[in-house]
Amino acid sequence: MKVTEHIQKAAGNTLVSFEVLPPLKGKTIQTLYDHLDPLMEFQPPWINVTYHRAETMFKKKADGSFDKVEVRKRPGTVGICAALRNHYNVDAVPHLICGGFSKQETENALIDLHFLGIDNVLVLRGDAEKNEPSFVPHPDGHRHATDLLKQVVDLNHGLYLEDDIQNGGKTNFCIGVAGYPEKHFEAPNLEIDLQYLKEKVDGGADYIMTQMFFDNQKFFEFEKACRAAGINVPIIPGLKPLTTKKQLTVLPRIFHVDLPTELSLEVMKCKSDAEVEQVGTEWLIQQSKELKAHGVPVLHYYTLGKPKVIWNVVKAIV
Ligand code: FAD
Repeated sequence: MKVTEHIQKAAGNTLVSFEVLPPLKGKTIQTLYDHLDPLMEFQPPWINVTYHRAETMFKKKADGSFDKVEVRKRPGTVGICAALRNHYNVDAVPHLICGGFSKQETENALIDLHFLGIDNVLVLRGDAEKNEPSFVPHPDGHRHATDLLKQVVDLNHGLYLEDDIQNGGKTNFCIGVAGYPEKHFEAPNLEIDLQYLKEKVDGGADYIMTQMFFDNQKFFEFEKACRAAGINVPIIPGLKPLTTKKQLTVLPRIFHVDLPTELSLEVMKCKSDAEVEQVGTEWLIQQSKELKAHGVPVLHYYTLGKPKVIWNVVKAIV
């Protein structure tokens, strides 16, 4: 079932969904089931599975010690989506990125997903690789999420890359795109970022899923600006708990989000990460309650190795 159909079926009740990363190369799917099993109590209608262009592995050196190395692409997203559907009878939303993929590889992945009965994709550009100063597209790939979106929309209309193929076969993907309540870091301002977001929606995106934020006011203002710009699709807030002191500097640097002073001061007073986790959990519970009262269609949680924290948050709000 499509994300938008789940939202429609919920008839105004706020749903809860989760996001996971594929396990590292060589690990088993059981690591993911162990992570998700407790969260399935909340009956998420779907689970998002991210895609990553690089992962950290360990290379053995001559002296027997190990070097940390980055290897290209982290496989598993498509297979995990199929496995989650079989194992939990839940819908899966694979993330598709432009970076590192030719259009042909993307088309093949979309056809695989279609054969697997997966009805949803979240289309994204992806970030620059660590050694690149800015995002470099694959020579035969897409530069922006809008371009990738168009390829999915074309396939939904039965238009393949080889434009002489007309076999009547169409896909039927529900398409999500990313939105940034605090603007995407490359955009000169929020207004211009919103113009591109509107392009994605006008181009066929069915809903928006947001970057994490820690101040609900930022989400409310973003939602208002979207509506004023004529963006009328569902907007799903993405939420993450703050769980370590280090994240006070890491999250703003990596995700380009502001941390509210009140939250930062509380975290700075903590004597251990266990205390930070408690503060972060309480903060996310309050955020979730307020967003739910506001009537958001879905609360989408980035579980990122913290299923217990997410369990505590969701338990407190359902
Ligand atoms: P775009 O929509 O292409 O926007 C990128 C920048 O270009 C923005 O500044 C925008 O204003 C500008 N822009 C957009 N269209 C145009 C245009 N036509 N012309 C000129 N400028 C334009 N990354 C991963 O690698 N894997 C994941 O699984 C993943 N999941 C994510 C999930 C969510 C919910 C979010 C919010 C982000 C996720 N990301 C993921 C990160 C994402 O890939 C990065 O934030 C990336 O830098 C931008 O992706 P985008 O799809 O928003 O890009």
